[in-house]
Amino acid sequence: MTAKLSRRLRVVAAFVFAVSWFAAPADAQWFTGRSGSSPSRPMVTIEILDVGQGDSILIRSPEGKTALVDAGPSRDAAAKLLKSKGITAIDLVVVSHHHSDHYGGMEPILRDFKPKYFVATGSSHTTKSYLKVLQVVKDEGITAVQPTAKPRKIELGSVTLTILPQPPENTKEENENSIGLRVQYGGFAMLLTGDSETDERRWWLAHCPELVGDCSILKLAHHGSRNGTDARWLELVQPDLAVASLAKGNSYGHPHSETIALLRKYKVPLLRTDQQGTITLVSNGETWNVVSSPLARRRAPRDDAAVAATRDDGPTRRPSRTPSRTR
Ligand SMILES: [Zn+2]
Repeated sequence: MTAKLSRRLRVVAAFVFAVSWFAAPADAQWFTGRSGSSPSRPMVTIEILDVGQGDSILIRSPEGKTALVDAGPSRDAAAKLLKSKGITAIDLVVVSHHHSDHYGGMEPILRDFKPKYFVATGSSHTTKSYLKVLQVVKDEGITAVQPTAKPRKIELGSVTLTILPQPPENTKEENENSIGLRVQYGGFAMLLTGDSETDERRWWLAHCPELVGDCSILKLAHHGSRNGTDARWLELVQPDLAVASLAKGNSYGHPHSETIALLRKYKVPLLRTDQQGTITLVSNGETWNVVSSPLARRRAPRDDAAVAATRDDGPTRRPSRTPSRTR
């Protein structure tokens, strides 16, 4: 079977899945209420936290291990959200790159949630407030881990985090020093690449295409900026869904219309924190789903064309690899 045919079958299966999901509100209720905690089918839960114009992504393994990738722009938003979810400790934190919309809330996370590991690059781009974050890492005795030119695997319970090889430092554009992270759980994969722009993504395409390819979900780099997504990237990643973290009415104009047009062209639906609030994704390693999306419960795609027509504002739910239900 050709890859294209296989993918087409997946899309058809996804549509069947979507219809069956919408036809079963009782199941939906069960699913929404028990995200990530099914006793029979352990799930990974990934939350794109609504922290405004920045990134903060919480990953929870089926075993309860936790990782936080970035901590948003404000000092308190990410910590407050974690506390509201009953989280008292984090195992590992990542600062994707040294811009404050990604580390602004990291200091209270380090102090209050006592992570064991702090993953960040050694990029020379720094600020007074980032140096303070590094000082807290030292004071709290947190183990600092830096990406290298080789991929590095971290086991978060049964979820594997692979830090992509890090390209040589770009001293002109800190976005290009973003850490790339592939989150893998069974056949489910999600790709997080901070605010990476074209050069860094091209470097990854050339050096580790196998770590970038075939991911169910793509977090758009750089909040949906036109320099955070391109055709080659989408063709290799082949996401079934894109997510973007950004604030409503942000001054950068994110997500840019070029990005939205590209996603539409490649028939990739987009969910945005400025429209949805926190986006919660769960997967049992075979299929995945979006939880607690009021719009998703309200609107069922009628067919593939309808899905394409609602790319920029309408959510969808698709199994990543098989048409079976997630229970
Ligand atoms: Zn950013």
